[in-house]
Amino acid sequence: MDLLKGKTAVVTGAARGIGRAIAIRFAQEGANVAITDLAVDDNARETVSTIESYGVKAKAFASDASDYGDTDKVVKQIIEEFGTIDILVNNAGITRDTLLMRMTEEQWDLVIKVNLKSVFNFTKAVQPYMLKQRSGSIISMSSVVGVSGNAGQANYSASKAGIIGFTKSVAKEVGSRGIRCNAIAPGFIDTEMTKKLPEDVRKAWTQQIPLRRAGLPEDVANTALFLASDLSSYVSGQVINVCGGMNT
Ligand code: NAD
Repeated sequence: MDLLKGKTAVVTGAARGIGRAIAIRFAQEGANVAITDLAVDDNARETVSTIESYGVKAKAFASDASDYGDTDKVVKQIIEEFGTIDILVNNAGITRDTLLMRMTEEQWDLVIKVNLKSVFNFTKAVQPYMLKQRSGSIISMSSVVGVSGNAGQANYSASKAGIIGFTKSVAKEVGSRGIRCNAIAPGFIDTEMTKKLPEDVRKAWTQQIPLRRAGLPEDVANTALFLASDLSSYVSGQVINVCGGMNT
């Protein structure tokens, strides 16, 4: 299938994990893909060559998504290189888990900056181009804990709840210009982010999942593909849970 043929997608934090799987899935459907991450390292280079193996254009850009100036610069570079941006996936994210009792101001500020401000930065930077072409799909990575909350993740949950409010507001602002804005709320997905959790915590999470397994990055990527493509042409301002039934 060629669901995204000729489109250009930008995926932030895509050197590995969920972002990488989304970038590759989009390439399989014919999209040219610009990936960003903190550095163009071996992971980023490997992701780019996998994307290219599907016969589309790919390039990795080093950019700190939490930095406003850096984001503005990289979006301009992507436009110069690719000519247009049709799809934005705000995927970059981090955790600094600890109980509020022990959480430092730095741990709070960093998680809010990387997870939430980055969504503002990239959405604002691509918006003028999408407004001009009167089309676009913006997808941001929230989390089920943005709605349910989670002990030890007050900073992370707050950042992911913020993404939901942002998504619904921007969807109302730009809908009349043909731009759709949605969020994905993954549950427990097997990536480097969750691999660092202790085995007993991972087990406890899996037992709570009706489908009895952790999600794969590809499970999230298929939902991102739906939201990026015309298959979801009448879907905007929504949050889709990809959680094996955990949070329903
Ligand atoms: P990951 O840690 O495997 O990958 C995150 C990527 O983001 C890394 O390549 C990292 O270098 C990059 N990154 C971090 N800070 C950045 C910055 N400031 N600028 C640019 N890139 C940056 O994590 P993942 O599991 O693939 O998570 C991807 C997204 O999905 C995150 O937003 C995460 O919060 C969200 N999510 C993950 C899960 C899960 O269970 N894994 C669940 C819900 C939501």
